[in-house]
Amino acid sequence: MYHPTIGLEIHAELKTKSKMFCSCANDPNEKQANVNICPICMAHPGTLPVINKEAVRKVIKTGFALNCKIQKNSKFDRKNYFYPDLPKGYQISQLYQPFCKNGFLEINNKKIKIREIHLEEDTGKLVHPKGEDYSLVDFNRAGVPLMELVTEPDIHSSTEARKFAEELRMILRYLDVSDADMEKGQMRCEVNISLSKNSEKLGTKVEIKNLNSFRAVEKGIEYEIIRQTRVLEKREKVIQETRGWHDAKQITISQREKEESHDYRYFPEPDLPMLRIGNSKSKIQNNIDIEKIKAEIPELPQARRERFDAEYGLPKQEIEVFVQNKILGEYFEKVISEFRNWIKETDMKSKVERDEFLKLAKICSNYILTDLQGLLKNISVVDKKFLITPENFAEFITLIYKKQISSKIAKMVLEEMFRTGAEPSHIIEEKGLSQITDDSEIEKKVKEVLSKNPKPVQDFKKGKQNALQFLIGQVMSATKGKAKPETVQKILRKLLTPTPNKD
Ligand code: ADP
Ligand code: ZN
Ligand code: MG
Repeated sequence: MYHPTIGLEIHAELKTKSKMFCSCANDPNEKQANVNICPICMAHPGTLPVINKEAVRKVIKTGFALNCKIQKNSKFDRKNYFYPDLPKGYQISQLYQPFCKNGFLEINNKKIKIREIHLEEDTGKLVHPKGEDYSLVDFNRAGVPLMELVTEPDIHSSTEARKFAEELRMILRYLDVSDADMEKGQMRCEVNISLSKNSEKLGTKVEIKNLNSFRAVEKGIEYEIIRQTRVLEKREKVIQETRGWHDAKQITISQREKEESHDYRYFPEPDLPMLRIGNSKSKIQNNIDIEKIKAEIPELPQARRERFDAEYGLPKQEIEVFVQNKILGEYFEKVISEFRNWIKETDMKSKVERDEFLKLAKICSNYILTDLQGLLKNISVVDKKFLITPENFAEFITLIYKKQISSKIAKMVLEEMFRTGAEPSHIIEEKGLSQITDDSEIEKKVKEVLSKNPKPVQDFKKGKQNALQFLIGQVMSATKGKAKPETVQKILRKLLTPTPNKD
């Protein structure tokens, strides 16, 4: 058995108005080719790049969120290579002095070390028209700010690698620094993987490129573990190389022997100054205020998980949905704050208050994650088309909690709220859905049901408890769900139990 070791290199396009070194729009949704271009990103002779400070702020923000040391001095370097999507013949990147170093991200209570996060520019895109013998190039993406994160070889399984990439994507989205959509190429993962007999001396690594989904990251690693194991079992050597992931065949294919950094003839970018960031005299340098950036970092996924657990005591899977689907989690919390007001008004004792609050939170979570999500389908809770205010939703949950509506009626009410945005109490009144409070009216219905169902009545008298459930169901449907099930049961039992003889 061999021990896998994995390091990730993850690129993410930053969400900025303009490109990295010019004022062209950074618009990932631009449909028309070669419209967001200018002499700077097209590398015309005599043009000079200007650093996009917003991109720098976003990299630093990411660095803080990932526990990195923000470097006092950073600079850019030229990475020279030829490719048709690279108009300059080199890429401005950072080799020697990146913005962020030595961070970590915790996955399953284990710290995965982050070696560095640096800033560079993206390339253009080659388009290969189907059935044609030529390719086209679109430079809209050339010069878009691109962040690269490099981990230490701290990962040891395909699921751990996937988890890391997924958690990172979520953090980038919480920070609003990147949309990080892998399908759109806004986030791209490269995997380095080696096998070894013992974990002290690492084996020769292979780099897998072209992994366009989390599943591909996972499958690519699993494939390489098998492939490299076979090589080693034949007592052959793993070749250090770059392999591409072939998604249709689910295999990796050798692309080229690994290039070294000296192959790129890196040298310091002469057209850009060294950037000093927040030195001891002043925290603000070059319009980059690191204290302000730090203060802008929102609650991150892990902190949110822990808080949802401490405050609402929800099951892990439910918390995870609210953390992954941030806006749904925010909606849940808006509803919750309505409950807090309601509980205050009803003047409950603090212990009871806490218990009742947790019950409300649980019912609320259930309804959001099942019935409401069922209705949502293609719209989200922040769409204009979504009409249920947190206040109305809280009222709705309170009615269920106080057992003023049955689950069957609740379904109808919620659907109506979703359709019209009306208040639950109005819907109940208008549609005549309010509960039957008069016991004699329920008793009348119970008697009707009993006379229509002699067999279950006999069964119950013979001791079959199931029969009682059946009869309750019959009464509930006869009252269109408007009777309290507890009351129905009480009346049923009363009518079905023989009265003792009076001597
Ligand atoms: P290179 O110089 O070949 O680019 P680096 O040391 O810069 O290699 O590392 C690139 C990536 O590969 C990092 O994510 C690192 O964690 C990972 N890595 C380095 N050595 C190994 C190894 N033996 N096995 C697996 N991953 C590795
Ligand atoms: Zn430009
Ligand atoms: Mg390297």
